[in-house]
Amino acid sequence: MAVYLDHNASAPMSREVAEELRALLLEMHGNPSSVHQSGRKARARIEGVRRRLAKELGGQPNEITFTSGATEATTLVLSSLVEPGDHVVCSAFENPAIHGALAALNARVTYIRGDAMGRLNPADFQAAVDETTALVIVMMAQNEIGNIFPVKDIVTSVKPVPVFCDAVQALGRIEFDVEELGIKAASVSAHKIGGPTGVGALWLKAGTELKPTIHGGPQERGRRAGTENVVGIAGFGTALKHLAARRADSKRQLGLKKTLIAGLLKTIDGVHVHGDLEKCLANTLSFRIEGVSGELLLQALDLAGFQISSGSACSSGGLEPSETLLALGLTQEQARSGLRVSLGMETTNNDIDEFLSTLPGLIARIRASSKA
Ligand code: PLP
Repeated sequence: MAVYLDHNASAPMSREVAEELRALLLEMHGNPSSVHQSGRKARARIEGVRRRLAKELGGQPNEITFTSGATEATTLVLSSLVEPGDHVVCSAFENPAIHGALAALNARVTYIRGDAMGRLNPADFQAAVDETTALVIVMMAQNEIGNIFPVKDIVTSVKPVPVFCDAVQALGRIEFDVEELGIKAASVSAHKIGGPTGVGALWLKAGTELKPTIHGGPQERGRRAGTENVVGIAGFGTALKHLAARRADSKRQLGLKKTLIAGLLKTIDGVHVHGDLEKCLANTLSFRIEGVSGELLLQALDLAGFQISSGSACSSGGLEPSETLLALGLTQEQARSGLRVSLGMETTNNDIDEFLSTLPGLIARIRASSKA
């Protein structure tokens, strides 16, 4: 059996959620816009999930729009809050969803980099905003290095400029409340919390005009036309029910991560750990090993039965080093060595022990073959 250590890409679905989804596939055939019993049943289910998600985020149900995922939620909110050519201040650690939407809007973007550990300074955001700034963008927790960013302080420092926050990796891992943070909008995604893939949501503070990007029927209060993904949304709701258990497991995952870091540093030469280990997600570890290509090691690990992720992304036929690692000041080559291990509720002590005992042999082989 493969050891899955890539929970930030997608968290496995629990048996409970999967079984409920199977039942839903058979039961939830009604169109939520239909007035008959089956339609009403589907509608009731969607509205129940909307209430649950709103409560989880700290907002109101009418502020939630279900989407196909966080990428769509990002496009939706940026198209609403940013006019073509507007100035936007954005952290250098955001998801491609943000960069893609900003490029499509031809926004003038000022990127804010952190220090060598990726720590963001609210004063840098304050210095970058001016009277022409339409939006500030900063994520709650970084998907690759795991840093938890000081969103509330950033909101305070840039007032009255609205702040959009990607909460994809934060949901189910850290406690937060959108009202308390003072943000204008947040995006979330179901498959990061053990829900089905291809479902997400936008939370947008009431009173803010939303410009639909999908046009047609009146679904989602006219904000997103098209018949809702009923089973997906219902599955999102089932995953939300288990969030407290997910969060409660983070202390155990932190213990595993500490064991992992100590083991890496003890058994392998040239290990560098990235990010802020103080204010960081308990489950996320980014590191590199000097002289070892992340991609080669990733493939060798996959063959050996360990699924992790690299710091590179496929782009126009080549492997591009991760923007996140480059933003830490790493060289292209160093960034290409980047690897991410992300743990989850299913990760055991044994997984970490096996990973640590397999890795040195693979690294020795890669180092030897690159010298030959
Ligand atoms: N934001 C972050 C931090 C992510 O990790 C991801 C997915 O990996 C996304 C946004 C995009 O989410 P989705 O796949 O739901 O579009």
